[in-house]
Amino acid sequence: MTAPRIEIDLAKIGHNARVLVAACAARGISVAAVTKAMLGCPEVGAALVAAGVSSLADSRIENIERLRRGGLTPPVMLIRSPMLSQIDRVVASADISCNTEYGILRALSAAAVRLDRRHAVVLMVELGDLREGVLPECLIELAGRTLGLANLDLRGIGTNLACQSGVVPDETNMAQLSAMADSVEATYGIELKTVSGGNSANLLWLSDIEDAGRVNELRLGESILLGRQPLTRGPIDGLHLDAVSIVAEVIESKRKATTPTGQLGQTAFGQPRLRCELDSSVRRPWQSLLALGRQDIDPDGLLAPDQLLIDGASSDHLVVRSEERLTIGSEIRFMPDYASLVRAMTSPFLPRFIRSGTPGLR
Ligand SMILES: *Cc1c(COP(=O)(O)O)cnc(C)c1O
Repeated sequence: MTAPRIEIDLAKIGHNARVLVAACAARGISVAAVTKAMLGCPEVGAALVAAGVSSLADSRIENIERLRRGGLTPPVMLIRSPMLSQIDRVVASADISCNTEYGILRALSAAAVRLDRRHAVVLMVELGDLREGVLPECLIELAGRTLGLANLDLRGIGTNLACQSGVVPDETNMAQLSAMADSVEATYGIELKTVSGGNSANLLWLSDIEDAGRVNELRLGESILLGRQPLTRGPIDGLHLDAVSIVAEVIESKRKATTPTGQLGQTAFGQPRLRCELDSSVRRPWQSLLALGRQDIDPDGLLAPDQLLIDGASSDHLVVRSEERLTIGSEIRFMPDYASLVRAMTSPFLPRFIRSGTPGLR
């Protein structure tokens, strides 16, 4: 098989999604499965839908169009604010979008009228993480103006924490979101269908609480794909951590010194690394090169097999150390973190292989 490559195990992704759907359902919460790290891969989308997620979500319209071209018909939500330059595409392919700007809502309405469609919107509220969101004190007014726009349905409100500043979803900010849903409803005498509480970083909050309040949706990506919750990157009980892996091929393996020889200046990617420090506990005399580099992954975000230590990477070489010589041409499998996964998926050098066998128990 060609290397390097990404291997995607649909059975494991499906298992992870089913476990999370059940955990959320126990608290009255439905799951919008986020496909952006899979670039809207239709096979993955289909596995998620089969696992019981109530909708799919992605940050890019190109990915949503790919899901649609792949024949997927469930509700799909655009979770990044639509761009004015893509408004017609958003209304044509996404059923729902997340919004914070009146000018964009007005353009969505005009596009929906023009295309003779209805489009649902979720208003995102800023609750401290300082990425997207209307300020809480401006929500009521924006909701009112949205209700006046033709062919738009105000479906609900939502928030997104943890992504930009690492703000932890907790009882306080989630209660704030619930209270805002109540006040929008009371002000306009309407019912909000969705209160979208956040992303995979909300799972710790979820496991701590008795009652989710008005929150009835989470948008989950990383936890489904990688089996980890992003606040600590700790594994989630019962989930596969290797549903997605990256395979690379050995192109050199030699006994080499563990410290460089000669005067040290900057490396291709900045400061030289103090290899001896990293490698002080074990000698690992063999240095091997794999045909994989920073163009494809973030070397700090790859989990290597136990016997290997990742020593660094340049654009096209990943340097690893081991006790034993590695066989030239052999393949090494890594588990990527989210940053590495996103880079690998957008690298033109890594083809994707999709496995669809039955789920093995870990
Ligand atoms: C990426 C994203 C998500 C999914 O986050 P994960 O940590 O992968 O679960 C949810 N909501 C928004 C707005 C996002 O941008």
